[in-house]
Amino acid sequence: MIDSHCHLDPTVFSGDEGVDAVVARAVAAGVSHMLTVGSGYGFDSADRALAVARRHPNVRCSVGLHPHDAAEFTPERFEALLALAGQPEVLALGEMGLDYHYDRAPREVQRHAFREQLRAARALNLPVIIHDRESDGETLHILREEGAFATGVLYHCYTGNVAQMEEIVAEGGHISIPGIVTFKNSADMQAVAAAVPVDRLLVETDSPFLAPVPYRGRKNEPAYVPFTLARVAQLRGADPAELERHTDTNTRRFFRWS
Ligand SMILES: [Zn+2]
Ligand SMILES: [Zn+2]
Repeated sequence: MIDSHCHLDPTVFSGDEGVDAVVARAVAAGVSHMLTVGSGYGFDSADRALAVARRHPNVRCSVGLHPHDAAEFTPERFEALLALAGQPEVLALGEMGLDYHYDRAPREVQRHAFREQLRAARALNLPVIIHDRESDGETLHILREEGAFATGVLYHCYTGNVAQMEEIVAEGGHISIPGIVTFKNSADMQAVAAAVPVDRLLVETDSPFLAPVPYRGRKNEPAYVPFTLARVAQLRGADPAELERHTDTNTRRFFRWS
């Protein structure tokens, strides 16, 4: 099984909770592979994700600049980020996008960092991992304008409704479902999880946050992704092992993960 999106950042998992122990627990739980996202904990999270991927052959990574950190964008730092993107362990750019829920960076700054990364992804022929919170369709608008679907678009931790999901899928996009789907009060996400076409569906933990039931409230880690997959299978009336074959295949195809 693959966790398509986690943050195995040494600043998050340190000491006895170190990254190596987290990876070992994932493998013991049947989660053989994971993609650690080098974005979201400052510009330096890209370097740290690459170091983790180099140490673990079953871990691959992305590099990018999260909308929360968009104010850190400078041309020089962006050049350094793109240099990392050429390494063989790096399978995608991101997560990137717009977050108008927290608004940690000014919106114009978020848009600029987002567009620059999309242009780089096209130039490098890499797929992109998208973070979208309450942008009211602007994220999809920018993705279309920048031609991002040509190299692959994955909406991670998808929190939109079914109609919005169908628009993304119609463009060729992929949808990743997080552990929130196991929460009782997540009717909208459950409807989406049941409706995503089976060839566009991925699952993720987005660890360290939002652990699925029965670990809700604890620190999240890739070992818990089977609970999310089981809930999605139940919502779809699917056999979990059969669904897993699809989500694993989709993840490998999307990231060109050989
Ligand atoms: Zn995110
Ligand atoms: Zn994330």
